[in-house]
Amino acid sequence: MPVPIPGNPLGYTLVYAIDSPKGPVLVDAGWNHPDAWAALRGGLLSLGIEVGSVSGVVVTHFHPDHAGLAGQVREASGAWIAMHEADAALVKLMRGFAEEEHHDFQADMLRRAGAPAEEVGAAAGQRPWVPAQPDRELRDGDLVDVPGRTLRAIHTPGHTPGHLCLHLADADRLFTGDHVLPGITPHVGIYPYDRDDVDPLGDFLTSLERVADLGGDRLLTALPAHEWIFPDVAARAAEIRHHHEEKLSTLAGLLADRAEPPTIWETAAMMTWNKPWEDLPPMLRGMAAGEAAAHLRALEARGHIRRVQGVDPVRFQALDS
Ligand SMILES: [Zn+2]
Ligand SMILES: [Zn+2]
Repeated sequence: MPVPIPGNPLGYTLVYAIDSPKGPVLVDAGWNHPDAWAALRGGLLSLGIEVGSVSGVVVTHFHPDHAGLAGQVREASGAWIAMHEADAALVKLMRGFAEEEHHDFQADMLRRAGAPAEEVGAAAGQRPWVPAQPDRELRDGDLVDVPGRTLRAIHTPGHTPGHLCLHLADADRLFTGDHVLPGITPHVGIYPYDRDDVDPLGDFLTSLERVADLGGDRLLTALPAHEWIFPDVAARAAEIRHHHEEKLSTLAGLLADRAEPPTIWETAAMMTWNKPWEDLPPMLRGMAAGEAAAHLRALEARGHIRRVQGVDPVRFQALDS
């Protein structure tokens, strides 16, 4: 069921319902908005499902276009909500974040990345909308509670730390969430930008290999959360890996050519985006910086570049320069 995301170019989230003797289980729930709620209820009704009969919602990741309506479905039906434990921990953390702390976190992160003062001053003041806390936490390999079916949680970190793909093994289908989409690549960022204890892009690339191998010698049909259903998870996963490998080697080349080691902000400005850097609105520049930071960190983790010690904001240099 396409559930609209009002005002967002992505258009809609695809919500799926899996029948079971205990009542249908939803994969994702859609954006928290009255129009989305009406579309979800209407979509379920067209399948002969009253929202009150839903037995569970398994959320691929905590983003509001996926987890948004999960709380409302739970209120209407008493359904459980399940999420990977790493995203559940993030939801808990976000719930405890005061508005003021959110602003300081953003501003400090931008400053440490080398963003200009006006950009730091314009840091988002509003805490983003926080989804409902799940009742159940999933780990890699867990079976989701869908009686009569084999639905396995596959931990695919990268887009978020706790992103899940869900393998309907009895039907050679994979609910790919935002991990593998047919036409676009998901955002993979690092927050705060200067973290050196995680490698989301490295995790994402490993997660792509993982889902590519899942089907064995059988084709695995992708049921993604956006765009359209497509027939071959492995082929698309290989394309997305290739896209990031090219981006990584281009970035390594840019760094090797620089006389002065760039900041994260300067790196983002050098990279290619779907609009010129100056034309990106501040929020998208912030996301681009997150993406640049993830690529820098992946190159660092592979031993191709290093961060210059003792400078603030942090700067990166090619290892042989
Ligand atoms: Zn997402
Ligand atoms: Zn999404």
